[in-house]
Amino acid sequence: MKSKFFITTPIYYINDVPHIGHTCTTVAADILARFHRQLEDEVFFLTGTDEHGQKVAEVAEKQGISPQEYCDQIAPRFEEAWKNLNISFDFFIRTTDPRHEKVVVELLEKIYQNGDVYKDKYEGYYCIGCESFKTETELVDGHCPLHPAAQTVKKSEDNWFFKLSKYVPKLIELIEDEKTNYIFPEGKRKEVLAKLKAGVNDISISRENVEWGIPLPWEKSHTIYVWIDALINYYSATRFVEGKEGFWPADLHLLGKEILWFHTVIWQAMLLSAGIELPKKTYTHSFYMIDGQKMSKSIGNVISPSQLTDLFGVDGARYLIARSFPNENDSDVGIERFKERYNADLANNLGNLVSRLNKLNENLDIKFEKLDNKIDEKFDNLLNNLRFDEAIGYIFETYIDKANANLNQFTPWKLADEDPKKSEILADCIFNICLAANHLKAIMPESADKILDIFTQGHQVLEKPLFGRI
Ligand SMILES: [Zn+2]
Repeated sequence: MKSKFFITTPIYYINDVPHIGHTCTTVAADILARFHRQLEDEVFFLTGTDEHGQKVAEVAEKQGISPQEYCDQIAPRFEEAWKNLNISFDFFIRTTDPRHEKVVVELLEKIYQNGDVYKDKYEGYYCIGCESFKTETELVDGHCPLHPAAQTVKKSEDNWFFKLSKYVPKLIELIEDEKTNYIFPEGKRKEVLAKLKAGVNDISISRENVEWGIPLPWEKSHTIYVWIDALINYYSATRFVEGKEGFWPADLHLLGKEILWFHTVIWQAMLLSAGIELPKKTYTHSFYMIDGQKMSKSIGNVISPSQLTDLFGVDGARYLIARSFPNENDSDVGIERFKERYNADLANNLGNLVSRLNKLNENLDIKFEKLDNKIDEKFDNLLNNLRFDEAIGYIFETYIDKANANLNQFTPWKLADEDPKKSEILADCIFNICLAANHLKAIMPESADKILDIFTQGHQVLEKPLFGRI
């Protein structure tokens, strides 16, 4: 029986344009989605844009257009960026989709009927950058640590609150039990547990003075807090996207570390309150540092996905993202180091090996029989734990280095084409590179297919190298 695999990226907030941070989460999700399709699982890969909230309304107003017009202009830029990176999402959700809005209202009504909301005064410091309230202790010199350039505004208003504190004991129980824990990697599980045990306040889920949002069903002059509305996308998609009805609960929510709390605590508590099954797993990655500095518009060191594909091609960009994927710790990257890595691994090693083998095969025309799609267990494990760097390293060591070593040791180019030893050596090298390509398919789909194509068809004339030097 086929198993299902439902994977999500965060839906990206539409006031920004795609950068390497969004790109790394999206490429990671795509690698896993493609890998599970290769294993013949039924996959649902969901991404999209988060389109409500004050910040969107403000940006739109500055441009003299409606918030909806603004969203309609920006959302396609994300969709396009992902298509340019060969991202194989099954559905692109937008939170202004009326079908999503309907599910948001239904879910909130369940929470309301369950007696988990109440009205109260809210006082706090609001960061428009995060679209969330900060406590005084979270601020650094009166500013949000993530948005030091933005002012935080002290606000006092009537809000509806969700009884988050009620669900804290249940969440601690779930997270502490290895069988039900859904927070990965381990460091993030510990971080969330410590914060839960330190005490948690209820959270406000409505806004009185923000018009650009979904009206709260039981008090329509309030809108639903943008974060609450956004989180529900993962569930709502399984309620209205054709053929995806059976995919809830999500098998994996991929997250960046700035949204850990929303996804591992607030979202889970909302689902518990609404009586909906919880996602099976969340994986929270760290950030990219660019040449030792935080990436920021003011420093001007933001790397865009198109900058990467222009320089390294689609598969080169995907490879470099996977190789530098920030797991527990921030990953320091830069264009120069990307170039070095690209040249060393792809141009000089893999690409060169393909050219050499293809050339040696000119007169022999060895064709590799169809592969049986056997995936090495160690690789499977590393990939599913998002250890992309180690997974790729393992494939290079196991198959590519072996083929290179064989070539260097047995120097088949010195042998005559009629010498059976030459065919034997070459067939072995071709076997190894085909296995490598089969494993790297999810990471570099077009190049892997090209390699398999070359060596299952016999010798081919290549117009340009697979990975040209930069
Ligand atoms: Zn902020």
